[in-house]
Amino acid sequence: MISKRAQEIPPFIVMDVLEKAQELERSGEHIIHLEVGEPDFDTPECINEACYRAIGEGKTHYTHSLGLFELREAIAEDYLKKYKVEVSPEQVLVASGTSPALLLLFAALLEPNDEVILSNPYYPCYPNIIRFVGGSPLFVEVLEEEGFQYLPEMIEEKLNPRVKGILINSPSNPSGNVMSPERMKNIAQFSPFIISDEIYHGLVYEGKAHSILEFTDQAFVINGFSKLYAMTGWRLGYVIAPKEFIRPMQKIQQNLFISASSFAQWGALIGLKEAEEDIQKMKETYNQRRRFLIPKLRELGFGITVEPTGAFYILANAKRFSKDSYKLAFDILKEAKVGVAPGIDFGTNAEGYLRFSYANSMENIEEGMNRLERYLERYR
Ligand code: PMP
Repeated sequence: MISKRAQEIPPFIVMDVLEKAQELERSGEHIIHLEVGEPDFDTPECINEACYRAIGEGKTHYTHSLGLFELREAIAEDYLKKYKVEVSPEQVLVASGTSPALLLLFAALLEPNDEVILSNPYYPCYPNIIRFVGGSPLFVEVLEEEGFQYLPEMIEEKLNPRVKGILINSPSNPSGNVMSPERMKNIAQFSPFIISDEIYHGLVYEGKAHSILEFTDQAFVINGFSKLYAMTGWRLGYVIAPKEFIRPMQKIQQNLFISASSFAQWGALIGLKEAEEDIQKMKETYNQRRRFLIPKLRELGFGITVEPTGAFYILANAKRFSKDSYKLAFDILKEAKVGVAPGIDFGTNAEGYLRFSYANSMENIEEGMNRLERYLERYR
């Protein structure tokens, strides 16, 4: 009865850990959540107010299927301001989150059996969405010593006529590493489209992230408001695409989603224009936690070869404790009452690692580390 497509799509294991943690919480346990990739901050007030205003003014109807023109214009201006790249509002499509933006993009780009190059480890939903529309992920086994970043020659070896896209994600989930502009430039020279997931842009603590559009216009940018603006629940993202792809993606959007939420878009518009100060405060706080957590995890015996400088993740080598990250993560949850994400969720190449998210208060992170320290005594 149930379609093969629905049967075959794997779960998002991090969500399984979270749901197990919530079950323990319901039975009275106190859990420290370092598994979820979601800002602990509330959305900046100027964005909330813009949204309330929009609702008060009756801006509660469908919007243009590409998104509000004002928002698309502001996104184009943001890319000009931050990266000095010319983007026309006609190249922007606003979707109900970065995840639907990825679905629209892959649905418009891939024929059955077309391939997309992904690094392994990867953000779990990438291969699942690619397969969902009939495509195939083609993995490049990136190395811990390289900060889990592609070496361009590793990509070159995989190129073949079926490859339609190369996906990059910097700063990266799960590694938190930022790709150098030199490496981006090298990758941009390959002929398939580059799909650049820039959702963690702005959350970079040393140096800066570059947009793929600085190096090529044969590219799609995926971005959204969930992380930088602490707007996960608003469900708002966008894609910047070569012009010829906008109409095809628009048709899919009209049929599947019609448009993104109108008042969420009015809120995001003010976010782009007025939330800079709030963002800087959140970023500074994330950085303090990062600077605490890296040496602490090392002290506890985890390996961190390349220090992550972006997003809010640390992918730590836990092989001296266990080679089975799934079992280890659930054991830590059960015994130490700390939620962590098992590396295996991010691909076979992250087996033996745990991903720690520092999108939680310093107090909770410190308590989580104390619990972990007591738990790890059994390995000494
Ligand atoms: N890309 C990456 C790399 C992510 O980490 C996430 C969120 N976990 C998303 C896309 C999806 O974000 P959203 O749909 O909330 O915009």
